Amino acid sequence: PGLKAGAFTQDDRQARDVTTRTTPTTSIAVFTSDLRLRDNPVLHAALRAADRVIPLFVVDRRVAAAGFAVPNRVAFLRDCLADLDAGLRERGGRLVIRTGDAVEEIRRVAEQADAGEVHIAGGVSAFAGRREARLREALGGALRVHGAVLTAAEPGTVTPSGKDHFAVFTPYFRAWQGVELRTPFAAPRGVPVPSGVRSEPVAAVSLLGSGSPSPGLPEGGERAGRRRLTAWLRSGLGAYADRQDDLAGDATSRLSPYLHFGCLSPVELVHRARKSGGPGADAFVRQLAWRDFHHQVLAARPDASHTDYRPRGDRWRSDDDAVAAIAAWKAGRTGYPLVDAGMRQLAAEGWMHNRARLLVASFLTKTLYVDWRVGARHFLDLLVDGDVANNQLNWQWVAGTGTDTRPNRVLNPLAQARRFDPDGAYVRRWVPELAEVPGRRVHTPWSLPGVSYPPPIVDLAEAAARFREHRHTR
Ligand code: FAD
Repeated sequence: PGLKAGAFTQDDRQARDVTTRTTPTTSIAVFTSDLRLRDNPVLHAALRAADRVIPLFVVDRRVAAAGFAVPNRVAFLRDCLADLDAGLRERGGRLVIRTGDAVEEIRRVAEQADAGEVHIAGGVSAFAGRREARLREALGGALRVHGAVLTAAEPGTVTPSGKDHFAVFTPYFRAWQGVELRTPFAAPRGVPVPSGVRSEPVAAVSLLGSGSPSPGLPEGGERAGRRRLTAWLRSGLGAYADRQDDLAGDATSRLSPYLHFGCLSPVELVHRARKSGGPGADAFVRQLAWRDFHHQVLAARPDASHTDYRPRGDRWRSDDDAVAAIAAWKAGRTGYPLVDAGMRQLAAEGWMHNRARLLVASFLTKTLYVDWRVGARHFLDLLVDGDVANNQLNWQWVAGTGTDTRPNRVLNPLAQARRFDPDGAYVRRWVPELAEVPGRRVHTPWSLPGVSYPPPIVDLAEAAARFREHRHTR
């Protein structure tokens, strides 16, 4: 059970100083995907463990080498680090930034500061797993790994009997709802950081790569995230159940980048939504459970980031036609306006509505019959919330190689348009060539005289037949 506001105050530390009267002790709080001061179990535990703490972030070039440092996320990360540093300074501390190999740097800082303990959040990716194993080797018993920091329920704690993870969402969700979440920790009042610890400026993140972010990228950081959260709880959550699939309504929380970088705590979000109550809150909590679900799959099967979770024996297309189709898909020029609108929103904002993600992913994998990894890579290149667990496993879910219990469903762009963009407003917003076409006719530009728009790159009926040939028969 968590401690309440101000639990680790100056009084605690003074009490300890009085009893021990030794040189002040130091611990390290390593920030990873938990770039926040509120409800941060890592920072909380590090502060409890010693008189002083070094809040450390390592800009690790391996992240760039692995292709994960792309302009949208680097720009957002820079905001996050600047905001974290500002928040720490308000509390008498500061953020210590180092560049290099994370394990080497953490070990070096720990040695230089004679730190007794090093605290870090447990991750679910293969990258995080390797980092943790190496840290354990380097630091031994000084390493403290904390669960339920990046997710609401810790992967591995909600399991079916005899298995290490749930492979189907519905039973997972049932079990997940029974988990008692910890009480969120308040932000610390003071963060005493030892003097003389060398730090690099926030601008060091540019080492990860440069390039222009999408023009409509949101501002990163805990403060920006909390502003959005407050507005969402006040005026979005209530109608979420009815409006979450309304493409033009844009009525989802847009909290995903803040969750990805840990500017907001999933535990806190679940608590606050449940406190609000109602069908909107229930639907929102369910989405947060989807996030946890994918994390527990990846934690158990880290290779699912790049290999089929349930192979269908697909022979994905990679011929010249496929290459041209992939280019048209990426450019938002498939001739199907709803698909194109989604792809253009992605380029413009580094974010795409979930309903559009489902459609464009189904279109690439099932209609064009292109390997899900091609689409997942493109999403990771642009999404500000681009996340190994959520992205790769949602792609697999859509492609039929993942956890969908109906792997053969194919989303038809015209049927999706009728249901989720009936008036065509989403298309008009993102596809300027069609901005003047009124009503739902915007979805079928090939039937409009005088409108110049790329013709459809694929026949939907033929495509569906091709996919059925490779039908999953499990
Ligand atoms: P809301 O509707 O407000 O939902 C609240 C939160 O719940 C989200 O912020 C997110 O953290 C979580 N959530 C919602 N839907 C899902 C879901 N299907 N799976 C997992 N978590 C979910 N989400 C990412 O965070 N990163 C990704 O890289 C990512 N890639 C995706 C790729 C594909 C092909 C698809 C179909 C979905 C992907 N999603 C991804 C899930 C989902 O589309 C986004 O989380 C959502 O659109 C973010 O918008 P929001 O914050 O307004 O969501």
